[in-house]
Amino acid sequence: MSTNIVVAIDGYSSCGKSTLAKALAKKLHFIYVDSGAMYRAVALYFLRQNVDVNDHTQVVEALKNIHLNFHSRDYQTHITLNDEEVSAEIRRMPVSDKVSAISAIREVRVEMVKQQQRMGRSKNIVMDGRDIGTVVFPDAQVKFFMTADPKVRAERRFKELLPTNPDITLEEVFENLAHRDYQDTTREESPLTRAEDAIVLDNTDFTPEEQLQFALDKVEPLMV
Ligand code: C5P
Repeated sequence: MSTNIVVAIDGYSSCGKSTLAKALAKKLHFIYVDSGAMYRAVALYFLRQNVDVNDHTQVVEALKNIHLNFHSRDYQTHITLNDEEVSAEIRRMPVSDKVSAISAIREVRVEMVKQQQRMGRSKNIVMDGRDIGTVVFPDAQVKFFMTADPKVRAERRFKELLPTNPDITLEEVFENLAHRDYQDTTREESPLTRAEDAIVLDNTDFTPEEQLQFALDKVEPLMV
């Protein structure tokens, strides 16, 4: 009996997780799921509705009203929040500034993890995030834990954001990454940590092609 393959990619903010995940999914014809986009969409909803994150009832009510859907086009993330396409808006700074605090809320995580596990039940998938190999899919056949020099990460993300955020500064991006890393690694609920069986991939000096080859060498043998 053949079982579906799950590739879990975790790591710090902006260290190339989604670049690798998309490239792998495309090459192997797997489904790509950007779990960060889900937390970002939740954060956007909370911001718009002024949800008080310290009010349990408000959080639970808000979660009931959030319906997320992925539409895969060319392996780019297209996510809708209650049928509205929010893929661009969730990348902007107001969401980036709030998302780590919102994703630290237990109820938010429980709901997102449930949805993520459903997506990996029967299909070959690549999912990237912070707790994929530790909490969402502890039995994933392949796990990567990605890291890179923080300055290199900030420069990469800055270049990516500049075309759509012309006022952004490199310092602002660096601060945001440092802040998110701190919140993600120190939170009580499923903090970012390397699963014991995860393969560490430090891509500071890797090109996207080199990191793809590194990952393919681990995944392809499982597919025969
Ligand atoms: O991956 P991305 O940087 O877009 O994720 C945005 C934020 O969502 C992260 O900084 C983290 O706080 C949160 N996140 C999470 N668990 C995941 C994916 C993302 O807590 N599996």
